[in-house]
Amino acid sequence: MPLQLAFVTSAKRHTDLPDSPGEVAFVGRSNVGKSSLINALANRRQLAKVSNTPGRTQLLNMFALPNGATLVDLPGYGYAAVPGRERAGWQPMIEGYLLEREPLSLVFVLVDGEIGPTKLDLQMLAWLHGNSVPYQIVATKLDKVKPSKLAGRRQQLARACLLDEGDVLWVSASKGTGIDRLQAHVNTLLTT
Ligand code: GDP
Repeated sequence: MPLQLAFVTSAKRHTDLPDSPGEVAFVGRSNVGKSSLINALANRRQLAKVSNTPGRTQLLNMFALPNGATLVDLPGYGYAAVPGRERAGWQPMIEGYLLEREPLSLVFVLVDGEIGPTKLDLQMLAWLHGNSVPYQIVATKLDKVKPSKLAGRRQQLARACLLDEGDVLWVSASKGTGIDRLQAHVNTLLTT
């Protein structure tokens, strides 16, 4: 079932976000497929476009379900085109959110399934792990991996992230693969 997400607001700091009865967040490097995935989860083509408009890519973008529970789209890391000031502000903004946001129950960390975890992804995972922030890895762009390579790629990606194969959710926003499982997962987190 598609998540009935509606855009709520964008904020520079987590302290400027409205309160929420329960929240999950999505993070990943720019171009990993985060907007496409959020759109696929909501079955809305343009929902996360708002997060991708200039000026908003560097903000925390919040969406809500009808029950008030929320999903936060965090700015993509490694964004090449940001001015120095914004780049310097990224870390405290994201770290502050991830460490201090009370309703946050789980962070979905997106990793490009075609290319595997980048150095920045691994830094992010180590940081989350070190700070005991619960996370779930989602491998994107499943359709870009050749079927003959998939078993090996699944194993490789999970190992690189120091996980078992079964710990990584594989999705394709383009083809819709794995989307229902992820929708159900988010729904469970946000409705119980
Ligand atoms: P974001 O920067 O993380 O929000 O990434 P986008 O959602 O804008 O996607 C970046 C690029 O990857 C775009 O060209 C998308 O069309 C492409 N993309 C995203 N998801 C998929 C997918 O599941 N399969 C394929 N083949 N391409 C994808």
